[in-house]
Amino acid sequence: MSLHVFNTLNHRKETFTPINPPKIGLYTCGPTVYDHAHLGNFRSYVAEDLIKRYLIYRGFQVTHVMNITDIDDKTIRKAHELNADLATVTQRYIDAFYKDIDTLNILRADIYPRATEHIIEMQQMVRSLRERGHAYTKNGSVYFSIASFPEYGALANISPDTLKSGHSVDSDEYDKENVRDFVLWKGQRDGEPSWRFELGDGRPGWHLECSAMSMKYLGNHFDIHMGGVDNIFPHHENELAQARCATGEPFVNYWLHVQHLIVDEEKMSKSLGNFHTLRDLMSQGHDPMAIRYLLLSTHYRKLLNFTFSALEQANQSLKRIQDFLFSLKSKSVAEGDASSSNDLISKTEQKFQDQMDDDFNISGALGTFFEFIREVYLHLDTFNSGDIASILALIERINTVLGVIRTSEDQSLSKDLEHLIEERQAARKRKDFQRADE
Ligand code: AMP
Ligand code: ZN
Repeated sequence: MSLHVFNTLNHRKETFTPINPPKIGLYTCGPTVYDHAHLGNFRSYVAEDLIKRYLIYRGFQVTHVMNITDIDDKTIRKAHELNADLATVTQRYIDAFYKDIDTLNILRADIYPRATEHIIEMQQMVRSLRERGHAYTKNGSVYFSIASFPEYGALANISPDTLKSGHSVDSDEYDKENVRDFVLWKGQRDGEPSWRFELGDGRPGWHLECSAMSMKYLGNHFDIHMGGVDNIFPHHENELAQARCATGEPFVNYWLHVQHLIVDEEKMSKSLGNFHTLRDLMSQGHDPMAIRYLLLSTHYRKLLNFTFSALEQANQSLKRIQDFLFSLKSKSVAEGDASSSNDLISKTEQKFQDQMDDDFNISGALGTFFEFIREVYLHLDTFNSGDIASILALIERINTVLGVIRTSEDQSLSKDLEHLIEERQAARKRKDFQRADE
């Protein structure tokens, strides 16, 4: 089976065909570094990580770029509140972000471009848009004219009647009822950082940052762009318009969006105050791998309702996998080449792959994995050392996608295991069978 993905742009599942296989260019919208990321943000980052890991498992060579928004309305506001330098504030949250993604076993992107380090590229894009008749200057700021791009609204499915061209909006975020000419470059304001620019000194708008940085590192036309569903409008709609109009070329082939993590029917967000950070949950004793498991185990296009009982269930599922590994590694078996497990292993892997090929159907894939665990337990006594090695190798391959069993922990787990196995052997030698069974 070939890989199929749901493309927001065309509102349907499509066969995935890379531009330049086996290479894939992947851009994911990254954090705005004005505070610690919350679990809602991590739902998107973990879902993106699962998809990226699966592409790698499928043999693609992924170049992953994730931006760091270190200048926008929110970061400037935070620096003012703290009466601190913008770069000092953003660096604190950039460091925290890297720490959190490592804790959640999210693979690092190849490049994390920062907005403040790409002002030249952004200004160049504004110039191109002006020259091609897609941008105008008003009161010291530069705006994108949505009337100049007839395809505007296609990604977010916006009806052309609601477009108010000629009216402009200055803030980075606004809703679908307020579709206007959006700001590309914001004219200088008191107390805000600003860069010299012949069209008016000032700073970039948020949407411009992502278009300029994605194209710098992935080229004008690349394969996949991802983010949470709240990014579809206005952020991705605007990115798409800017990129297409600045180059006249296609921009992104597949737009994939992650549904929200919600709490009591509402989106988890900073502004609603209904959020948990990773640090909060860990200080309450929750295992970050259980948090990762919870975030990835619901299909990325379905709402995920955060509750502590769901986290506990995720913990139980993770424990079943860990117990399974323990049983396999500590089982005394006859030496031999794998034979009785071959069929089960190849069927399991094929089924896992078929499920994931269907727009990353993780629920089906996890179902297949747990079915495999049950089958192995049933036949464990018939397996030899070769079977056990093949089973462990399959788990390792599946875990390159799931990432819920940490390699470092694995190492300390195997040390613990070795110690326990030695203890069991010693107990058997002294005929203390009760202790050996324990
Ligand atoms: P931000 O730092 O607000 O720009 O968000 C960073 C990423 O997290 C974006 O891709 C957002 O779409 C995503 N995001 C924010 N809140 C949630 C949520 N409750 N559930 C899923 N993704 C979210
Ligand atoms: Zn973005």
